[in-house]
Amino acid sequence: MYKHIFGPVPSRRLKMSLGVDIVPHKICSLNCVYCECGKTTNLTVERKEYVPTGEVLAEIDHYLKNNQPPDYITFSGSGEPLLHSGIGEIINYIKNNFPLIPLAILTNGTLLSDKHVRSEILQADVVLPSFDAATEKSFLKINRPSKLINLNEYLQGLIDFRQEFKGQIWLEIFILPNYNDDQDNLKELKKAVKRINPNIVQLNTLDRPCALKNLKPASYEQLDNIITLWNLKNVKIISSVDERKKVGSFRKDTESVILETIARRPCTVSDLSDILGLHDNEINKYLSTLENDKKIARTELSRGTFYSLKVKQRK
Ligand code: SF4
Repeated sequence: MYKHIFGPVPSRRLKMSLGVDIVPHKICSLNCVYCECGKTTNLTVERKEYVPTGEVLAEIDHYLKNNQPPDYITFSGSGEPLLHSGIGEIINYIKNNFPLIPLAILTNGTLLSDKHVRSEILQADVVLPSFDAATEKSFLKINRPSKLINLNEYLQGLIDFRQEFKGQIWLEIFILPNYNDDQDNLKELKKAVKRINPNIVQLNTLDRPCALKNLKPASYEQLDNIITLWNLKNVKIISSVDERKKVGSFRKDTESVILETIARRPCTVSDLSDILGLHDNEINKYLSTLENDKKIARTELSRGTFYSLKVKQRK
């Protein structure tokens, strides 16, 4: 079993995507209230070799030499990938040995204020940075950053990266009512988006349990109103979980095995991950769909969010 790669997982944006997870769970420079992976346990901007680079290279090599190529190789997971000091070496290795597979990076973008970090990821094909707030108030509220992150430097890093990077930038903005949907932030966000000049802006909102309980997602109508208000090119709403099933790699067998497991006893994401040997992110994607289909229910207990089969109402 692999330790640092997972999937391929059905992804709304990156089709059948082989995940590369190079930073341990919840080591991140932000502590976003909406994080699907829970609370950040190590809030840091320190870059280091969090997992051995050689191990990651060996796993990627083994997978790609023994399986069909995925649609993308994607750096993602439950921590911030740019914190890993070996990411440049890993990207070089993939590009030298498997040049035909597109490479994507999901990042919060905070470390792009560092020129050296920017230079390390220039060979990627798609970078998907997030940027949810352009006012200090909203930034602190929704992203709860490390004290060492300065909002202006964060924004400037994204602007500089656009100048230097020849690939696609898909900027993700997560909208959360009462956290970053005030007029002031929306106005400043529009200015920031124009300065960053990404290829696409993707508006996202909650569809999973997250770090802070009782958060509400933005409605489709609200996201649509933001698009109208901004009147910018290339702003899209990321499609709903329904779309996930249309992704070619959505595996009914994985869905079934999750259902069979929670039919025996309610499980958390982490229980399912241990039992099934799948990455948290992968489990999360299937749970979204099952919840959306009203096949499972969730209960909040002290050990976390438990999933069980939805009990059918007797007529
Ligand atoms: S959502 Fe991403 S950037 Fe925010 S805390 Fe979670 S892992 Fe970090």
